[in-house]
Amino acid sequence: MSFLQQKTLSGARVKHFKNTENCASVEIPLPKEVCISMSQHMGPPCKPTVAKGDSVKVGTLIGDSDAFLSAPIHSSVSGTVKDVTELVTSNGARTQVVIIETDGEQAVEEGIQPPVVSNHPEFVKAIRASGLVGLGGAGFPTHIKMNPKNLSEVDTLVVNAAECEPYITSDYRTIVERSQDILDGIEAIKKYVGISQVKIAVENNKPQAIELLRRLTAEDPSIEVCSLRSIYPKGAEKVTTYETTGRVIQEGMLPSDVGVIVENVTTTAFIGQYMRTGMPLVSKCLTVDGDAIAEPKNVIVPVGTHYADLVAFCGGYKKPPKKMLMGGPMMGIAVFDDAYPVLKNNNALLVFSAEKVYVSEEHACIRCGRCMSACPYQLMPRQIEVAAKNNDIEKLKKLKVMLCMECGCCSYVCPAKRNLTFSNKLAKQQLRAATAKK
Ligand code: SF4
Ligand code: SF4
Repeated sequence: MSFLQQKTLSGARVKHFKNTENCASVEIPLPKEVCISMSQHMGPPCKPTVAKGDSVKVGTLIGDSDAFLSAPIHSSVSGTVKDVTELVTSNGARTQVVIIETDGEQAVEEGIQPPVVSNHPEFVKAIRASGLVGLGGAGFPTHIKMNPKNLSEVDTLVVNAAECEPYITSDYRTIVERSQDILDGIEAIKKYVGISQVKIAVENNKPQAIELLRRLTAEDPSIEVCSLRSIYPKGAEKVTTYETTGRVIQEGMLPSDVGVIVENVTTTAFIGQYMRTGMPLVSKCLTVDGDAIAEPKNVIVPVGTHYADLVAFCGGYKKPPKKMLMGGPMMGIAVFDDAYPVLKNNNALLVFSAEKVYVSEEHACIRCGRCMSACPYQLMPRQIEVAAKNNDIEKLKKLKVMLCMECGCCSYVCPAKRNLTFSNKLAKQQLRAATAKK
């Protein structure tokens, strides 16, 4: 029996804190400048195609790459390139950024019009040109997903609307506010990728979204809206695929290997919108929340907006900020400065005060097994921790550490407060380094 088939209900029962689910998304006033990173997708970064002093418009191409795993980057504003410089990212790496001073006009690049698409290769080309990447957080270039090696064997689209991370409600708002875009995106994918069945996965803590989507798709027998039990991390790609189709994505496999394309719901909505307008990916809706934020909201912003501008729009800090997260509390990445810019795949900005942030002391493992029970892939996080400490590469392989998606469930449930997710992360690096050395 495979890893998922035995335990479909593992995971962590986290509190939802969906405080902003009824906050309609609102557009931020145009900021004075944006800072657009050249690293906004999985894969090598883009190279800037503009220089200091250049004029740009909304939708102007400002970065691209010849690498297979990449997606072009477009200006989200009209204005003048103030600088092309470097930014230190949250993991300490450096990346190039294009800083643009806005002119308040928001003039649109000439020639932007709906793409002319009549077949699969043209669809893939159009999606690449749009700069679309997975908007649920992963940032995987979408045109690559739309062009699997085994295209004729792929029959199912899973639209991932589970949004299982606490606090985040931007996907929920997409369902409520942009349902036609979602349906148009699904139709385009069905038509050009040759998909015969669609599963829309929604956690059952969003009954209105389930009811709305079921009503809108009632006449289409190829689309099923699947209500998933609300246990984190139901939105993880492998988990969602298994819950909706019963197909198991084993270690080293892609969803397309089991005939599935998994696409986040906001990514799907963008495809619908892009096929209608031709405007590349230049803006993003984020949930801004956390106890340090005065007025939590769902905010639509130009890509590259500084976090400080978002916070100001949300009433500023009501308590001194202690921790700022790009993404949710389970898988989000800590950022050290509110000058950091919004990226394409950024779906939330959470800011917490010292009252909500504490670093617990690690204690000795009591062998309770909770970490293993909580792991959606039935990994053995404590064993991995020990093997990593001993630099036992063969054991790490046997323990299938590369399956770990760093969801945080094991750390969350551990009564000894062991930082298992972090040690898994390091263990994966150890294994990668050892394999590369070989
Ligand atoms: S972080 Fe990794 S080991 Fe821990 S529960 Fe998630 S997938 Fe399992
Ligand atoms: S949950 Fe914590 S204490 Fe329990 S077995 Fe895992 S590491 Fe040990």
